[in-house]
Amino acid sequence: MKAIVIAEHGGPEVLRYTDVLEPKLGPTDVLVRVRACALNHLDLWVRRGIPGVKFPLPRIPGSDIAGEVAKIGEQVKNVQVGQRVVLAPGVSCNQCEQCLAGFDNSCRQYTILGYLMDGGCAEYVRVPEVNVLPLPESLDFNHAAAVPLVFLTAWHMLVTRAQLKPGEDVLVLGAGSGVGSAAVQIAKLIGARVIATAGSDAKLKQARELGTDEVINHSKDDIAEEVRRLTNRRGVDVVFEHVGAATWEKSLSSLAHGGRLVTCGATTGPDVKLDIRFLFSRQWSLLGSYMGTRGEVFQVMKLVGQGKLRPVLDRTFPLREAAQAHALMEKRQQFGKIVLNP
Ligand SMILES: [Zn+2]
Repeated sequence: MKAIVIAEHGGPEVLRYTDVLEPKLGPTDVLVRVRACALNHLDLWVRRGIPGVKFPLPRIPGSDIAGEVAKIGEQVKNVQVGQRVVLAPGVSCNQCEQCLAGFDNSCRQYTILGYLMDGGCAEYVRVPEVNVLPLPESLDFNHAAAVPLVFLTAWHMLVTRAQLKPGEDVLVLGAGSGVGSAAVQIAKLIGARVIATAGSDAKLKQARELGTDEVINHSKDDIAEEVRRLTNRRGVDVVFEHVGAATWEKSLSSLAHGGRLVTCGATTGPDVKLDIRFLFSRQWSLLGSYMGTRGEVFQVMKLVGQGKLRPVLDRTFPLREAAQAHALMEKRQQFGKIVLNP
């Protein structure tokens, strides 16, 4: 089969479109013919390498996958050949205390398709049966692939970790990113007031179309000053962080007393400053969030199927042009998801 293979870490040029062996199935595995695989920042990290993480190479990247079931293992019961499916990106042991309690994203063996195991930038991908979900009728493959990782991440951050409530103010950084565009919609669905940032007027206009109440152009204006102006100097109840070093101080100064900052990423760097006098005297909560549970994948897919959450698709590329797609994503020129088609 054809696949994108990373044999060494580096720039987009290390992504090679080549022939590899079709994966062999275990008894509880499913082979999925990939029709669409969406890019995430995670793909960039897997390609570049992460200090301290040892990737088994060569690796096929790709975490967000929609397609059709091609083959099933002999013990697979709930999935049929030919079925249209979308895949939950997180893979865990299914046996430990965390998994059995429904917190599979806290499993010590938790990993993600396309991270420490081969992913969907290929004609076929092998996954455990428990990762396979039926695709809602209303969704095509490209839009379906644009859902799992970002909506799951944003849902776990806002609903489960930050417990955002109706009427609260939330600051969403980078509304043009996949996770940001998911967060804006989830926050509006909850009934919060959304203040979103983006780096261009075109992206701010698109953020407004997603339901954002107030927008801040972070390339022109100071985020914290604008937040104070928009909240009558109070600050926001929740900050939705995924940018890291570049925005961290502005994110903290945007928080109200008793506010919660929830973060899932550090695309601009992981080392940040914290004056703990503000942390205790203003009674802030700093919340880490990592992916989400398989149960939460069902919740977001249901809402997407009902049209209450809308995957945002920027454009598609043929799989063989994965390097161009990575380069585009690194320039942050997209609004929403970039999807590859094998
Ligand atoms: Zn486990």
